[in-house]
Amino acid sequence: MNILRLNKKVFKNFNGKKLVIGKSVFGHPILCYGVIKTPYPKAIIQASIHAREYITAYLTLKLISDFYKNGKQGSIYFIPIANPDGVEIALNKDGLYKANARGVDLNVNFDARWSTGSQNVKKRASENYIGEKPFSEPETMALRDFTLKIKPDYTISYHSKGQEIYYEFFQKDCACDLAFAKEIAQATGYQIKKTPNSAGGYKDWCIQELKIPSLTIEVGDDKLSHPIKKAHLREIYKQNKGIIEKANAFFVENKWK
Ligand SMILES: [Zn+2]
Repeated sequence: MNILRLNKKVFKNFNGKKLVIGKSVFGHPILCYGVIKTPYPKAIIQASIHAREYITAYLTLKLISDFYKNGKQGSIYFIPIANPDGVEIALNKDGLYKANARGVDLNVNFDARWSTGSQNVKKRASENYIGEKPFSEPETMALRDFTLKIKPDYTISYHSKGQEIYYEFFQKDCACDLAFAKEIAQATGYQIKKTPNSAGGYKDWCIQELKIPSLTIEVGDDKLSHPIKKAHLREIYKQNKGIIEKANAFFVENKWK
């Protein structure tokens, strides 16, 4: 079953909190699974904002199921497919497609030093087009509005590939952010990497606007090609299993202090 259908099927049968945070350009609902154990910490976990990286949606569905069964603390909102139109295009037409239906790369469309990224392009493309203005797209508007409503304590954005973790975006004080990145790096075995030339991403915007630790986790060995095949899900899942509980414990126990 393709990941769009699987997401819809799992959502239909899900017994936690079900939310539709918005609609894509083509009118697909953007599905969000809420698993509420305790009020703190609150988090948003989003994946597949880049279309071809839909292996992260499969991973997120597994993390939802695990956290639903075994999670002990936290209110976690999972969005396995932040860019459903793009995923549809990547599945049916162009396996390397990253953008949304209008050729906007959603992860450079957020209002965080928008248009200053080194790889930004100024016209429609399968990747890197920043859009006409920040939040020009329904998918980025939906994520922005939902995030402002939830006021999470941290966010995680799943991407592929490279087995890396990004945590920086011009923070003044990033002791907690770095400690959080280190905690997750240790748990996954991934490397922390600096990304000084990126801008306009969801993580960037969360760090800038909400002043919370926000990570991008790039799953999958860099040697793999896009889109990463499902055969690699087992290994990626092994590396990320239990990550939500570890992240929550980090905040509950004030591990950076
Ligand atoms: Zn990506």
